[in-house]
Amino acid sequence: MKVTVFGIGYVGLVQAAVLASVGHDVVCVDVDEAKVENLKKGLIPIYEPGLTPLVEETYQNGLLNFTTDAEMGVTHGDIQFIAVGTPPDEDGSADLKYVLAVAETIATYMNTPKIIVDKSTVPVGTADKVTNKISNVLLDRGETIDFNVASNPEFLKEGAAVSDCMKPDRIVVGTDNEHVKSSMRELYAPFNRNHDRMIFMDVRSAELTKYAANCMLATKISFMNEMSNLAERLGADIEAVRHGIGSDSRIGYQFIYPGCGYGGSCFPKDVQALIRTSNEIGYSPSLLTAVETVNVAQKQKLYSNLNDYFKGELAGKTIALWGLSFKPQTDDMREASSIVLMKALWEAGAKVQAYDPEAMEECQRIFGSRDDLLLVGTKESALNNADALVVCTEWSQFRAPDFNLIADQLNHKVIVDGRNLYDPQLMLEKGFSYYGIGRGESV
Ligand code: NAD
Repeated sequence: MKVTVFGIGYVGLVQAAVLASVGHDVVCVDVDEAKVENLKKGLIPIYEPGLTPLVEETYQNGLLNFTTDAEMGVTHGDIQFIAVGTPPDEDGSADLKYVLAVAETIATYMNTPKIIVDKSTVPVGTADKVTNKISNVLLDRGETIDFNVASNPEFLKEGAAVSDCMKPDRIVVGTDNEHVKSSMRELYAPFNRNHDRMIFMDVRSAELTKYAANCMLATKISFMNEMSNLAERLGADIEAVRHGIGSDSRIGYQFIYPGCGYGGSCFPKDVQALIRTSNEIGYSPSLLTAVETVNVAQKQKLYSNLNDYFKGELAGKTIALWGLSFKPQTDDMREASSIVLMKALWEAGAKVQAYDPEAMEECQRIFGSRDDLLLVGTKESALNNADALVVCTEWSQFRAPDFNLIADQLNHKVIVDGRNLYDPQLMLEKGFSYYGIGRGESV
């Protein structure tokens, strides 16, 4: 099938490459010229396991193409995906300017019937706005061309995006139109062989499904973080509690890890956007508001542990930081806890020596060169002459480090572990002051 994808980001690029890998003929359109030129040279703008060979293979066999030529893109695809960003507006609501700009572009250049599929995460009612935008432009052009707008929210996880798209848990499609349903079935048939993963529903429900899923996951995290704060104050160990509750099949072990707060491009903005949507319709979302509040506070935790240990004397200290990305297996630092920590440390006059397996370039891009940030090539060199170690991201290479080396290198034997990677008892035996999440301090 001929498919066009607007927006070559984490979602658009992965979905485009995966669709091309099964034989669909895909054109990707982006406004970012440098990104398009780099992709043509084989330079992939993001780190995502398995993505590079997939893009190389599909680009070489001609099924995946990249362009800034929107007219060419619109002409190409019978199905037009919108996969551009929907960043938070100043008031927390999802900013639809990129989505509506694509809708206008499609309407400007379309000359044959199109199925327009919204893959970006957008508030309920956006499909109607996209429909209105296209209708108005067509009216201005004096054209009557058949089109349908459907919702097909994306559920991929960064760090496992390729496998999530190859083997999706579900494919949600919001449409009432039979032609759209059969086209989407045909498009996704290669990924829908083992059992039927397609869930059809009305457009508004599909739009809300995406927010409900992310808000549910964010709720689980904030719930566990709240429990960890209680555990700390009550002399309990949240990791024991986690095992205890996870064993209940109604609760389960998945996604109940306490930590230093959720980040990424989705949970924070999607929780905020649904709060905003709720407020707009006069509903006060107490639970969602609490999820957000707990998370904002949790992200301060690493700094407050360091501040406690150094009794407010952080000026002039050097802090070794392991992990910059908001989670492992990605270079994405959007809303990462590491950013909150680094900014607080800089504010207090401390320096950061950081290492991350994939996010160093991204960190450099965000913060540029500054005297109080040193990005180093290994986790060991981050320890050089540092005063304390903080673990922000649970990359596997941080899970079993050489604690003797850490003890030798650090000026103060203190570890702040934002992901509960280490055993407090072992830390005690090794002579560290250890701050985990919800486990008390093993000084
Ligand atoms: P991204 O920021 O990585 O990429 C968006 C791309 O869209 C950029 O390359 C940008 O240049 C391009 N763009 C902007 N305006 C354009 C236009 N008019 N025409 C063509 N291209 C344009 O974003 P992302 O992380 O891929 O997210 C895209 C959407 O998918 C968002 O709504 C997000 O909430 C949702 N989503 C993201 C994830 C994730 O894990 N990143 C998962 C599920 C859903």
